[in-house]
Amino acid sequence: MAEGRILIVEDEKNIASLVTLYLENEGFRVNHVTDGSKALDAVRRFEPDLVVLDVMLPGMDGTEICRRLRAEGDIPIIMLTARDQEVDKVVGLELGADDYVTKPFSPRELVARVKAVLRRTSECSGKTEKFSLGVLSLDVDRRQVTVDGSPVELTAREFDLLAFLVRNRGIVFSRDRLMERVWEYDHPVDSRTVDSHVKSLRQKLGSAADLIKTVRGVGYKADI
Ligand code: CA
Repeated sequence: MAEGRILIVEDEKNIASLVTLYLENEGFRVNHVTDGSKALDAVRRFEPDLVVLDVMLPGMDGTEICRRLRAEGDIPIIMLTARDQEVDKVVGLELGADDYVTKPFSPRELVARVKAVLRRTSECSGKTEKFSLGVLSLDVDRRQVTVDGSPVELTAREFDLLAFLVRNRGIVFSRDRLMERVWEYDHPVDSRTVDSHVKSLRQKLGSAADLIKTVRGVGYKADI
């Protein structure tokens, strides 16, 4: 079961209760406010480990709340945006949100993102990050990969791609999104680059190759 306290700032009650239900099922403690002007106070009182923050809110909008929270500290924030265009505002203006999810989204996806952000941020706070998926072991700090106990030599980019997919396992990423996240290109260059890296990664991973799944028409994910 997951641990942690999540604050949801969302005026659409249906979305908030659905997300609350899913997060509570995973073991999180959840608090919920519907008005932007109450968000900062709720953060102080509830001391959440992560905030799920809608952009369009009555009282004070999500971008302003995000800006103010960032001015006070580094609490992890996932923004909920209504359209892809708002992503520019959230990410482009470097508000400092840790991730964003575009509506409509599945509560399952949001839960996966919450867990991924919490994993990522706890790693930054000094915890070592190691993963075991079936026969694959991944030590992120040492940049070591083993399959069935035998070391696997990967290029830096192959390692980054594998670590990103494993860290966010279960989530499907488009080629463009992978270019953006792993290659850190703002504009998609040639998404065949992703395919060729996945191909060579699978070859090197041998019996663990199946961990990287192709999702037809969408992209890739890591999963057992
Ligand atoms: Ca809203």
